[in-house]
Amino acid sequence: MDRLDGKVAIITGGARGQGAAEGELFLSEGARVVLTDVLSDEGEATAKRLGCEFKRHDVTQEERWSEIIAETKERYGRIDVLINNAGIFFRDKMINTSLADFDRLMSINTTGVFLGMKAVAPVMSEQGSGSIVNISSVAGLSSAAGAFAYGASKWAVRGMTKTAAVELARHGVRCNSIHPGLIETQMLAQVFEDRDDRRERMVASVPLGRSAEPNDIATLALFLASDESQYATGSEFVVDGGINAM
Ligand code: NAD
Repeated sequence: MDRLDGKVAIITGGARGQGAAEGELFLSEGARVVLTDVLSDEGEATAKRLGCEFKRHDVTQEERWSEIIAETKERYGRIDVLINNAGIFFRDKMINTSLADFDRLMSINTTGVFLGMKAVAPVMSEQGSGSIVNISSVAGLSSAAGAFAYGASKWAVRGMTKTAAVELARHGVRCNSIHPGLIETQMLAQVFEDRDDRRERMVASVPLGRSAEPNDIATLALFLASDESQYATGSEFVVDGGINAM
């Protein structure tokens, strides 16, 4: 199991959910992994369980990004992969979304991704290689009616990914977005608002007939992090059980 042998990966929002699943899979494939999150206790516990490093990190803080990148480079000598996975969700129609709530969500889901790409790009460019994977959503492919700010943030991630990919391509740095559907993490409880009827209706509408496990996304992130995807950049990779095909 050496698909990431010798590679160093930073995964934001890695205390739980998809980020933790990606950390576990990457480690099993030979990577050295740094998990970051605002959840210190959960992050430390996850890192201890997996056998990797954890750093407390709020992705909205540019100075903290500089420290994370500098410390990782100092310790491991290189950074090959950045998974911009941290994110939050709330449900509200456009008409009910306050400016404060909109700004807060955008600062994490969108500005956090921008700051991460900006911070890691010089290191990867100097190496002449690197893979940035930004976690968007099916909400970044079509309407996210009822979750206006979330949809806006995930469309922005998709757009930033394409622009960064073209700007960084000549430095050997790749950048792609992943668009998950319904993934069984704590975020999904917010999507369903703990309503069984909403859960049943939404899961029943998935062509493959089920929601996804975090590992269903981690396996795609592994492909994009590895050299197996060396000719892929600026692209959307959808992993949604067929939702977007309808
Ligand atoms: P999750 O809530 O379990 O994980 C998100 C993580 O991000 C948490 O550990 C949280 O503490 C962290 N985080 C939040 N704000 C942060 C900040 N300011 N700085 C650093 N970390 C922060 O949910 P998840 O499903 O694992 O979410 C991972 C990504 O997948 C998110 O970007 C989410 O939008 C996206 N996504 C999720 C689904 C789904 O159905 N669960 C679907 C599509 C896309």
